[in-house]
Amino acid sequence: MHETTTCPYCGVGCGVVASVEEGRLNGVEGDRDHPANYGRLCVKGSALHETLGHQGRLTRPRIEGREVDWNEALDTIADRLGEVRMRHGGAAIAGYLSGQLLTEDYYIANKFFKGFIGTPHLDTNSRLCMASAVAGYKRALGADAVPCCYEDLEKAELVVLSGSNLAWNHPVLFQRLRTAKSRNPLMRVVVIDPRVTDTCELADLYLPIAPGSDIALFNGLLAYMAARGRLDRDFIAHHTEGFEAALAAARDEAADIATAARRCEVDAERLETFYYWFASQLHVVTLYSQGVNQSSSGTDRVNAIINCHLAGGSIGLPGAGPFSITGQPNAMGGREVGGLANQLAAHMDYHTPGAIDRVARFWSVPGLTPTLPEAPGHKALALVEAIERGEIRALWIMATNPLVSLPDANRVRRALHKCPLVIVSDCMADSDTLGCADIVLPASGWSEKDGTVTNSERRISRQRGLLPAPGEARHDWWIICEVARRMGFAAAFDYDGAHRIFDEHARLSGFENGDGPGETFRLFDISALAGMDRAAYDALAPVQWPVNAASPRGTARLFESGRFMTDSGRARLVAVRSRAAIQQPEGEARLLLNSGRIRDQWHTMNRTARAARLMHHRSEPFIEVHPADAARYGVHDGGLARLVNARGDYLGRVRVTTSQRRGELFVPIHWNDQFSTRARASALVAAVCDPLSGQPESKQARVALAPL
Ligand code: SF4
Repeated sequence: MHETTTCPYCGVGCGVVASVEEGRLNGVEGDRDHPANYGRLCVKGSALHETLGHQGRLTRPRIEGREVDWNEALDTIADRLGEVRMRHGGAAIAGYLSGQLLTEDYYIANKFFKGFIGTPHLDTNSRLCMASAVAGYKRALGADAVPCCYEDLEKAELVVLSGSNLAWNHPVLFQRLRTAKSRNPLMRVVVIDPRVTDTCELADLYLPIAPGSDIALFNGLLAYMAARGRLDRDFIAHHTEGFEAALAAARDEAADIATAARRCEVDAERLETFYYWFASQLHVVTLYSQGVNQSSSGTDRVNAIINCHLAGGSIGLPGAGPFSITGQPNAMGGREVGGLANQLAAHMDYHTPGAIDRVARFWSVPGLTPTLPEAPGHKALALVEAIERGEIRALWIMATNPLVSLPDANRVRRALHKCPLVIVSDCMADSDTLGCADIVLPASGWSEKDGTVTNSERRISRQRGLLPAPGEARHDWWIICEVARRMGFAAAFDYDGAHRIFDEHARLSGFENGDGPGETFRLFDISALAGMDRAAYDALAPVQWPVNAASPRGTARLFESGRFMTDSGRARLVAVRSRAAIQQPEGEARLLLNSGRIRDQWHTMNRTARAARLMHHRSEPFIEVHPADAARYGVHDGGLARLVNARGDYLGRVRVTTSQRRGELFVPIHWNDQFSTRARASALVAAVCDPLSGQPESKQARVALAPL
């Protein structure tokens, strides 16, 4: 039997055809009908069936290490959360979610925590990868709305990849781009990255900029466009605001090519070539990812990019636009339901006119009224600080491993040990975070549960439950509903399947969403998908939001009319200037540490490490070092070395390479205490973040390097 589903790894969101026989998933291939990948899969996706199996799975609930049945686990959670809520208030309870969850899980978690526990403190690990992109879009476009679609990469004449190793992190999009380039000899690709990566293979021009100089680079581009008469004056006049201030800031920082080149530490001639290409072309897509977002000035970097697109009018057109590529399979779906602490629900913020009252009325059932918080909650790093201060008395973590992924991970461990109640729902028994859990809940995983995910181009796709979950593992939404029921909220959490949750989510997106009295027009609207029964939900074809009465078949591209989601209807150019990284050299810790994913592994490896062939590419933690630094610090290719700073250390195999700039290092983010002692890159990163987005400055730690 062949069933369609969606890959659970990166934000490309590839469609998968799974071969299922006698309760086993025997193989996978790319879904030729899925518009994200048209049959392609990368090496991770093609090994999905090799990562399954019950070995290493959590199969029974545990309380303080003791196996218990579900009734005891759920009763205990309900009692203890109820007690915290009664004694300390709902705001003493927090949740920390994940871009791995399905939208239906996310929706129920958001409704439970914000609606009925009454706490605003619900955040997600999407904070670590997408928050700056979200904040940048909202500032410029008035909504967290990716304007482009994947087809735009193929229709563009110029594709700029900034802070994105597409070849490793979004391999199927890289394949699509390579094919498009081979079909269109006029297409040019520019790669902007301090490291030489495999993505450079496609580059007509490579700019190895100094880390953190992105704003200077794009400010220089804006100044160049103005100086060479390459602005779209008509678009600026009719569809934007803030242009003059943004241009003044750009000129202030990088008025000419020589200045911009000096700030970015790149060759002026190459920089001018980039500027000329961008300024001469309307059909430009700038695709950006963690190299832009994971910074204490990440939001400003995003806006520096968007400024150039607005100034050139290259947005809302085929083959044009600023395109943020998400890291996780459902980073977008989490944002749709309000999974970030600064969001309320269905893309409404706390300050969206009428939103709190609207959501409260929508979630009300006879005899039960939600108690929604009135202001945003703690973002991820602030949440850890609130735990340290003793303000958060109960934390429920779902489908993520913050002891490996959050900055200053050793401090996170200490904070969790201090928290009176830590509940962890997970699929796997070897997550580092389980060591801090008072209560452990076994969750179902990919191929075991039904739901939806939304990929980087706003496309909602089905994941399907094809296999039984092992032991007593249960769906996340079911677990939350059972706790809610025991806390007295049964009437608001009565669902007999994921399709019912999706229906409610779709109805909320369209609820009072329009121009009528008391309504607010909002872009996120999938109300045309409401009312599906189980069969229709099972048959749901991939579709891009908005999906409403005006666009019942979905919407490939946004802002084609030139009207944006700000109060004025005009997009905003934002005056931005470069700022120094918060993390600066401390004592011997002077080398700049970059980190990222590697091609064949996913997050903390508890799935991908099960497929032997995925370990061949890189089989152990490593440290990439420039030859001059290797000589200076006495390390050699193939030898072991140690990175250290005041927060922790990291052991890895040295790879000497000219791909690195001098004074800079690269390590993978995947290894953790389960696979190798002391190879958690996040333990070296200080807990500092962008003040606007709350996204950590993950790519700018400072470390000392020494042979082992
Ligand atoms: Fe999965 Fe991403 Fe690979 Fe597609 S590109 S198969 S979504 S990991």
